[in-house]
Amino acid sequence: MHPFTYTKAADTREALNAGRRGGRYIAGGTTLVDLMRETVEHPGSLVDISALPLREVTATKSGGLRIGALVTMAEAAAHPKVHALYPVVSQALELSASPQLRNMATIGGNIMQRTRCTYFRDVTADCNKREPGSGCAALHGYNRTHAILGTTDGCVATHPSDAAVAFAALEATVHLLGPAGERTVPFADFHLKPGSTPHREQALRPGELITAVEIPPYPRPLKSGYLKVRDRQSYEFALTSAAVALHLLGGVIREAKVAAGGVGTVPWKLPAVERELIGQRPSNALWTKAAERAADGARPLEHNRFKVELLKRAVERQLRVVGGGK
Ligand code: SF4
Repeated sequence: MHPFTYTKAADTREALNAGRRGGRYIAGGTTLVDLMRETVEHPGSLVDISALPLREVTATKSGGLRIGALVTMAEAAAHPKVHALYPVVSQALELSASPQLRNMATIGGNIMQRTRCTYFRDVTADCNKREPGSGCAALHGYNRTHAILGTTDGCVATHPSDAAVAFAALEATVHLLGPAGERTVPFADFHLKPGSTPHREQALRPGELITAVEIPPYPRPLKSGYLKVRDRQSYEFALTSAAVALHLLGGVIREAKVAAGGVGTVPWKLPAVERELIGQRPSNALWTKAAERAADGARPLEHNRFKVELLKRAVERQLRVVGGGK
């Protein structure tokens, strides 16, 4: 591990001042400390923000829900409002990591997670994300777990967060605070596709920190759920996942929110699937037809062609689980 300084910010002003001077924010530390141990990351200065007042889950005036950035994954998953209103978020969180990690890791840190690409974590391998311009060892290496959507020849790594897939499906908003004040970013714009700059992963400006993730209001009832498909049933990242939320009125689907994980370079929204569903009555035939659109634009690699079919089947299954049908 490289040497670094550590400061614990007593309040937001102290945190932002330290962030302005180039400090890296840390809270649960479950990703960043790992990467520092492996010398993948070597920040010169850490700013501990765990004392900031960002630990609340609150209902918004418009009827949505605001989850503070320092709410732990375990707290968010178990929160009665999250559990009752957005089971897709609770389920995504409960299917992530381990109980110990969920007790430490925060919602802000969760959506800031870095990829699990093994080449990224191997400092002897070429990796444009870790070392811009060095190449991508995964492109022609062993790429079974890598992305099929949103890739470029510069990077084919998946985004690892489950909760981010649920937030993407629900079209959440990320609240940020930085030297220039507060601003919000739609979830769809928060994570950046690799393009020619895979090392740029989020739309954060220098010194900005995440203060909350806000889920918008939806007409009730909103049925939702999360399916995670992985090589083993616990403590494993998704080969593919499907987050689905549906609002039915009079037997017709009026709102459909769908996203996938484990297949995209960012949490992957599925608007083509959503369009197939709106205005239709639930049926097995509808789920099959809509799920056919899940892999639109996929560009599979040598070892992950199976993900195209796996993604479609995961989306179809979760549509059936959430929406019923016959
Ligand atoms: Fe690095 Fe991305 Fe290539 Fe993995 S896929 S080696 S993270 S550039």
